[in-house]
Amino acid sequence: MSAVGTPFGQMSIRQIQCGLAQKEFSCREMTEAVVGAIEGADESVHAFLEVTGDAARKAADAIDARVAAGTLGEAGILAGVPMGYKDNMNLEGTHTTCSSNMLASYVSPYTATCVAKTLSAGAVPVGKLNMDEFAFGSSTETSAFGPTHNPWDADRVPGGSSGGSAAAVAAGMVPVTLGSDTGGSIRQPASFCGVVGVKPTYGMVSRYGIVAFGSSLDQVGPFSRTVEDAAYVMNAIAGHDPLDCTSQPCTTDFTACLDAGVAGMKVGIIPAFMEADGLAPEVRSKLEEAAAKLEEAGAELHEVDLPNAKAAISAYYVLGPCEAFSNLARFDSVRYGYSDPGHKDLGSQYEASRAKGFGPEARRRIMLGSYLLSAGVYEQYYYPAQQVRTLITQDYTNAFQKVDCLLAPAAPRTAFKFGEIAEPAEMYLSDMFTISINIAGNGGMSMPVGLGADSSLPVGAQLMSPAFKDENMLRVAAELERIYGVAQVAPDFRAGE
Ligand code: GLN
Repeated sequence: MSAVGTPFGQMSIRQIQCGLAQKEFSCREMTEAVVGAIEGADESVHAFLEVTGDAARKAADAIDARVAAGTLGEAGILAGVPMGYKDNMNLEGTHTTCSSNMLASYVSPYTATCVAKTLSAGAVPVGKLNMDEFAFGSSTETSAFGPTHNPWDADRVPGGSSGGSAAAVAAGMVPVTLGSDTGGSIRQPASFCGVVGVKPTYGMVSRYGIVAFGSSLDQVGPFSRTVEDAAYVMNAIAGHDPLDCTSQPCTTDFTACLDAGVAGMKVGIIPAFMEADGLAPEVRSKLEEAAAKLEEAGAELHEVDLPNAKAAISAYYVLGPCEAFSNLARFDSVRYGYSDPGHKDLGSQYEASRAKGFGPEARRRIMLGSYLLSAGVYEQYYYPAQQVRTLITQDYTNAFQKVDCLLAPAAPRTAFKFGEIAEPAEMYLSDMFTISINIAGNGGMSMPVGLGADSSLPVGAQLMSPAFKDENMLRVAAELERIYGVAQVAPDFRAGE
């Protein structure tokens, strides 16, 4: 076992809470082990950018006080659970860098609602996780602070942009983390690292306090090894927040459906996705196998057409950069962010600060967005992209009149090697199966279905839900978990081996 994984990081939420209740270990003891292991040995994975040992110890001591008082049951559904947060999420007193030199010294003056909800549910915050710069990317290679390595193979990327969040769970450092997904950034790294990753329906989870990329597309969700753990985290973070006017009330208990099985459920298969150019044969055959096994378990399979989904990547790479261009305008080097010294006029200060503070992919997105929104160009790209968005949304609405859940690949292939995909346009294809769900706003998740026959690396099946019926995909995921077994920590990191 590599020292970075601890037996505690490899437990499920229920196992942790049983251990605490039965006084097999204290929360402080567990926290010291988890924090110590990450501080001592995370270089090989580089999942964490900052370890928040003091905040973790304080939260752990509060849980131990509950145990001593016999009130652990009132501490919340995430009581004692060590958690990590993607570094675009504000947590008061921690650096929130978005893996960018632009925000390298920025310290959060407040806490994002999703993070605050996990803390009030009893979670122990152990640190902030590496990501692609400002969440632009699919490999975590655009982080200004160096990439995260895939725990299954250190020469390979963990996926992105929430690569640190996926790798920390796959390496058994922590049982659950939060990530964010604008075009696939939870589902694609979950697929590459062999863990569960859930992008809830847009509006299910508050975006307040998350550094915005594409405000109409961004959504926060959990990474975990078990479906039940993901459901617990969903229970903690979902719901209306007065600080995010797009968030919606939610009273669903996401754990309630997990034992229901799939008998009688209608599961849709999208033939155009299964026949897509670029889908690796080992991924296709895993998906076919998963579909057949769900059918054996009682699900009804239906073919579903999403005629406009093929335009999703093109629409996204108009809408996403336009929203990013607008959101990143606030980094003006005056109020916060990197400020290049020694300039006599504001114009040259802006230019030099933004040129040096942002990395190449962030600059590319800003340039693209500014061009696409300029007079004369806007009508040719932004407006039609919004029309395509409506068509894709209608495709999903029609599909979900026929089926309860869709099954598709999460990523076209298993994890690739560092540097293997150098062309931005090729990298953008990593999200060919995930992006349309962000455009429509529905829930989507990646569920591990074993290892690819050719690469021996994890393959993720994507499940997609009708809007605000995310329990449907969790129910199917729970069945896949019964079929394939609970997601395993990557071999080199397994405790006790
Ligand atoms: N890979 C996509 C992009 O680069 C999606 C990223 C994301 O979901 N944050 O934009």
